[in-house]
This record gives sequence, C-alpha cells and structure tokens, in this order.
Amino acid sequence: MSKYFSEKRKGLVAYVPGEQPQDKGYVKLNTNESPFPPSPFAVRMARQEAAGLNLYSDPECRTLTKVAASYFGVKEEEVIFTNGSDEVLDFAFLAFCDENTPAVFPDVTYGFYPVFAKLHGVPYREIPLTESFRVDPEAYRAAKGTIFIANPNAPTGVALTLKEVEEIVKSNREKVVVIDEAYVDFGGESALPLIKRYDNLLVTRTFSKSRSLAGGRLGMGFACESLIADLKRVKNSVNPYNVNKMTMAAGVGALLDEEYFVDCVRKICENREELAAALKKMSFEVLSSSSNFLFVKSEKMGGEALYRKLKERGILVRYFDKDRLRDYLRISIGTKEDSAALLQAIGAITEEIK
Ligand code: PMP
Repeated sequence: MSKYFSEKRKGLVAYVPGEQPQDKGYVKLNTNESPFPPSPFAVRMARQEAAGLNLYSDPECRTLTKVAASYFGVKEEEVIFTNGSDEVLDFAFLAFCDENTPAVFPDVTYGFYPVFAKLHGVPYREIPLTESFRVDPEAYRAAKGTIFIANPNAPTGVALTLKEVEEIVKSNREKVVVIDEAYVDFGGESALPLIKRYDNLLVTRTFSKSRSLAGGRLGMGFACESLIADLKRVKNSVNPYNVNKMTMAAGVGALLDEEYFVDCVRKICENREELAAALKKMSFEVLSSSSNFLFVKSEKMGGEALYRKLKERGILVRYFDKDRLRDYLRISIGTKEDSAALLQAIGAITEEIK
C-alpha cells in the first residue's frame, strides 16, 4: 500500500476472482464460464463493430435495449445494461444502500456482496443459510434493509421457488429486493415477470454464463422505470460508456441466436446431471443444483487438499477458505470430456490416498 492510499479505503478487502491462467494447460472448472464458445452469429456481429471503435459506444445501448425488451417482454425503460452483472450490482449498492439502509444477504453467497458493501461504506447483515444450505425465506420477512439474493445461490447452486421469492419481495415493500439471476437459465424460476407488479424488485442477469460471453462483460438489470432511472443516474455519474461497441453487438447476436443458446443450456444441464450421478457413485455429497456448477463434498478429503491435488493434475476447481465451506468444492460444468478428465483424476487421487 502506498502512503497516498485513501485513509477511508485502508480497510478494503478486495474480491478475489477465480484463477484465470493464460496458458491453455488446464481443464478450467473454477469460474462458472461456459465451456462452449459464443454463438458464431454473436461473434460475427461483434467483429463488424471493430472498425468503428474510434467512436464511443452508444451510452443508451439503444439497439441492444430494443432487442432485449422484445426478447424478455419488458418495456425499454425497464432495462439497463452494464459491464458484467457485477456492475449493475455495484450500481444497486450505490443507488439503494447507505448508512441508514444496510444491505442484507445470506452468509453463504456471492463473495462480491460484502466487498461492494465495504467499498461503499454500507453496513450489512448476513443471514445464515439453513443446515441444508438453503435460503430461508422466512428469515427475510421485513428485513429492514436492501436485500441481495442470488437465485440460484452461489456457490451452492440451490434455488428458491418463484413463490418464495415473491414472499420476500412482498414483505419488504419499503426496501429494494435485488434478485441476482446470474444462473437462472440452468433451471431456476425467474422473478422477471414480477417487476410489473412490484416497484421494489430489481432482477439482475448476465451474458457471462448461459450465453458464453464472460469475456465480453455484459450484464442487465430489470425493474420498474423509476428504479432503472435511479440506476442510470448512477451509471451516468460513473461511466456513461460502460458497455463497449463490440460487446453490445455480441449481446444482440446472442439474444437473436436462440437455437444456439437453448442447445448450450441443454448440454450443460445434461452434463451436470451426469457428473452429479458419477460423483455420488464415488461417495461425494452433491447438493441439488439449478446452476452450471456443483457444490460437492468428498467423504475422503477436505476441500483444500482435493483442490490442490486436482490442480497438480491440471484441473482447476474452486475452493473457499471460509468456515462453513472448507469441506466443499465448487465445480463448474464443462464439456463431457472435462467431466471425464475430472472423474479420472478424482479416481487416481482416491487410489493414491488409500
Ligand atoms: N452474480 C453471481 C451470483 C455470480 O456468481 C457472478 C459471477 N461471478 C456474478 C453475479 C457476476 O458475473 P458477471 O459480472 O460476469 O456478469
């Protein structure tokens, strides 16, 4: 830390993203990316934009907004685009939390929520998941703060039903409820239709997972017009050109290529079920997942030891050095070949420690 670092920020503990090795030597199952490339149509659309990069991107994302509004069945005023969904979450902390409006979220959830809270000086309360790693909707009744719930949750993959989400939104009408649907396409029930009925609901989505655009950085927020206007006010105070031209075009392409999207999601869900069954056979505890990853516990080894042994064998998974999570690993769903490599490595490691 330099002597110039802001006094106010000295306590900052940054989010630690999963490893992104730049050599191709790993089976990469650690950051919940799609194992499949983006839609070829989306890539073509992005490529066409490259020659126009001398000009700034459209701060209103007009073309993408039109396409998305029609695709998701919302009004154009009910959507905002951001640089990954991390950014819309960041904007939500800025827009809807302050010293008097704390953030409320589960104790086991997306690790960026407490980072945003600390960055913006927002107090926060963590509500423990149940013994079986579920979000207990009852515990969020009149929670007296801005609620952030990832649904399906991460790193567990466990989802709330739409009815449970609605209960939470309904019992917190005085505060905003943010439902982070980064993984919803893999089996969750979306709360998107509820934005028409609840003016305190913000639903966030990403193109990083089911639409294979993690490296493009494109996220979305859906809410009633006034919440979106608040978020846009924040956006225009931070970075009006937050989405670059190539990503905007890729986003349009990804939404228009429905067949490719449906096929990728189907393959990932199929691979997930196959991998879950195989791991259970190898005596792993596997939480029921509605996402593109599995949260698993080995009967034979702690999470960190298995993470290290897999890494030695060229397989990257995610280990969390946190009280309730130490025995577990989060494994992103890859191709069938990735699953085979993982299972083979686990088999070899199990033999080794016998
Ligand atoms: N929410 C959750 C629950 C996530 O796991 C992630 C991915 N790390 C994000 C949001 C943010 O993803 P992105 O910024 O790539 O849209």
